[in-house]
Amino acid sequence: MELIDGKATATAIKAEIKQEVERMVAEGGKRPHLAAILVGHDGGSETYVNNKVRACEECGFQSTLLRFEDDITEAQLLTEVRQLNEDATVDGFIVQLPLPRHIDEQKVIEAIDPHKDVDGFHPINVGRMAIGLPAFISATPKGILELLRRYHVETKGKKCVILGRSNIVGKPMAQLMMQKSGGDSTVTVCHSHSPQLKDECRQADIIIAAIGRPAFVTADMIKPGVVVIDVGTTRVPDATRSRGWRLQGDVDFDAVAPLCSAITPVPGGVGPMTICMLMQNTLAAAKHLYR
Ligand code: NAP
Repeated sequence: MELIDGKATATAIKAEIKQEVERMVAEGGKRPHLAAILVGHDGGSETYVNNKVRACEECGFQSTLLRFEDDITEAQLLTEVRQLNEDATVDGFIVQLPLPRHIDEQKVIEAIDPHKDVDGFHPINVGRMAIGLPAFISATPKGILELLRRYHVETKGKKCVILGRSNIVGKPMAQLMMQKSGGDSTVTVCHSHSPQLKDECRQADIIIAAIGRPAFVTADMIKPGVVVIDVGTTRVPDATRSRGWRLQGDVDFDAVAPLCSAITPVPGGVGPMTICMLMQNTLAAAKHLYR
């Protein structure tokens, strides 16, 4: 069994990005600039945004964090988005989700200039990706494809089962794995109303689990030699940790790993790749690659 090390891969990719940035700067170009909007004080969102700012430093990017209290109105937030759209010094930006309930997230996503939409959530980017055109691709599925490539996992003609159909992971993952220029796999997507989910998994060469149900994928659900990508990150109570919890994936790792040809751990698998792909998207925005 091979452990797919997302942390090491992400470190290597960030070093590649930094090298490219220093080359651009040495040639008289400007540093890529990522801005992030953070609304409120949700602990998880603060951590994610801080990690993104730190990744910018590692890659040699400029970063700007715009913070607002959670009583900001939808209209005010839309104004901030439009200002970032117009700001020529900013190459790409993200609005950290989730937003407070009184703000329509979809409206905010659709207000972002698709050319600066480095999260790849705007319908223009989602649509372009779906038909195989160059586009900003949602960071988690993009990172998974990159991990499969860097670990030389054969995907062409393989049966890939994706658990979960969210807009940010399951659906784009299915598109990418299906595409000729992507995974070129035969893809099955399962969700909470899929009666044959276990049988589908047992036939899979590659399983990508993104449902947010701790240890859902068990040893009886897999074919020996399968490649398992675990996207799930759920905080479960753990009295042995000083903080009282640990991150648990969607896969029962200890029981499943010995049967796999390759598997990602949680943490240290998909997670580090996600932020790294946001950096790659920002570099692409700075180079105007998708314009
Ligand atoms: P989500 O929006 O909650 O979607 C969950 C999907 O799983 C839905 O399609 C749902 O089906 C399906 N599902 C839920 N319970 C199921 C069950 N018992 N059997 C079959 N399908 C089931 O979640 P998400 O945003 O995609 O995230 C999924 C997990 O990945 C979460 O743990 C999240 O924290 C993690 N995540 C990690 C990263 C990372 O960077 N590591 C990034 C994003 C997400 P229905 O559509 O039928 O409801």
